[in-house]
Amino acid sequence: MEKFNRYLVTAALPYANGPVHIGHLAGCYLPSDIYVRYLRARKMDVKFVCGTDEHGVPITIKAMQENVSPQDIVDKYYAVIRDSFAAMGISFDIFSRTSRQIHHETAAAFFKEMYDKGLFEERESEQYFDEIKQVFLADRYIIGTCPKCGNDRAYGDQCERCGSSLSPDELINPRSALSDAVPVKRKTKHWYMPSSSTSPG
Ligand SMILES: [Zn+2]
Repeated sequence: MEKFNRYLVTAALPYANGPVHIGHLAGCYLPSDIYVRYLRARKMDVKFVCGTDEHGVPITIKAMQENVSPQDIVDKYYAVIRDSFAAMGISFDIFSRTSRQIHHETAAAFFKEMYDKGLFEERESEQYFDEIKQVFLADRYIIGTCPKCGNDRAYGDQCERCGSSLSPDELINPRSALSDAVPVKRKTKHWYMPSSSTSPG
């Protein structure tokens, strides 16, 4: 077996918009905890690091729906998730949060370095926008009438009555799931990293 001087073990970062459930523990955190305990028992130099993922649209939308701030949502579920892991005896050395200053700085530094090296491709595209809530809408947050079966609660990605895969453009009378406004198309810019340009160094 190959020898390493140090071991850094992590496990998928739980998303802070709900509690962890037993399936997460069994499938992800328990196996890594067992491995870490084995390494510690062998007197290896090991750190077990994890934390909550506290960014992204689902958190923002959950906050809007519950009429609280995104910070309230992540503070609540960070505590719930941290306490669940502690109660299950998952032995992290560090259980952090992606919203901490150090992670913002590190992520920004990574992005800036890659940007300066010209590794990204900038592309503009049109996406649906909710003018009342002032947010871009993921397909799932656009509701309308299914063109195949007439269900008037079909989502922009799928109709759950007839099972058809849809795109928001196919919906009849599309509206925002957040405000009921008719979504408009707006230009937005994204930075893509072609996987062919990820040479080391
Ligand atoms: Zn349908």
